[in-house]
Amino acid sequence: MIDSHAHLGRPEFDSDREEVLARAAAAGVKWVVEAGTDAASSRQAIQLSRRHANVRAAVGMHPCDVREDREAEMEEIAALARESEVVAIGETGLDFHWPDNAPAAVQERFLRRHIAISRETGKPLVLHHRNAAERVAQVLEEEGPPPAGGSFHCFAGDLALARRVVAMGFKIGVGGSSTFKKSVLPGIVRELRLEDVVLETDAPYLAPMPHRGKRNEPAYLALVRDQLAGALGVTPAALEERTDAASRALFRL
Ligand SMILES: [Zn+2]
Repeated sequence: MIDSHAHLGRPEFDSDREEVLARAAAAGVKWVVEAGTDAASSRQAIQLSRRHANVRAAVGMHPCDVREDREAEMEEIAALARESEVVAIGETGLDFHWPDNAPAAVQERFLRRHIAISRETGKPLVLHHRNAAERVAQVLEEEGPPPAGGSFHCFAGDLALARRVVAMGFKIGVGGSSTFKKSVLPGIVRELRLEDVVLETDAPYLAPMPHRGKRNEPAYLALVRDQLAGALGVTPAALEERTDAASRALFRL
């Protein structure tokens, strides 16, 4: 399995980060893509990757963290993006859920800067969208989707939007929320090729059933794989093989 999106640098893992990574390996997680959310955590993601052979880094600034006066940090992120441990640009995107977030115009300016870095480096985007899936797709269409594609992490659109982003060369990120009772994600994934779907945890967030509401970790990706395979009527091994192929192609692992 490949965990295409995690935040193991978060303080939630300060007491047992090494054990968490050991449990991930024991559960069959071959790669973890650690996503930065600002310049400091992006630097830490690269350092984690240097200490652990099965961790790779994404560098970027999360839409909940962008602010007009943090624009200079993007220069550092653009420099970090060239490091060999970095396989993706992000986490970036748009988040219109939280009222304290930067205005939409500021968030969009940062998103467009990340798209430019993706184009310059040839590395794919890791995209966050909350109450903003449609707008993120529109910005990509306006800019022209970068050739390296990317992932719509924690996909929260409908089937029509999924098809639109797949057509732009992007993968659909599916994690713990697909195991929740009312999730529409299995129904959407059933209509897609599994080679267009990447598995993810978003650890420490969005733990799958039966750990919903608790701290998530990459080892729980097996629970996502098994429950999603059950909902789709495919074997866990087949789901793993085809979604791993999607992540390997996207991040060149
Ligand atoms: Zn994330």
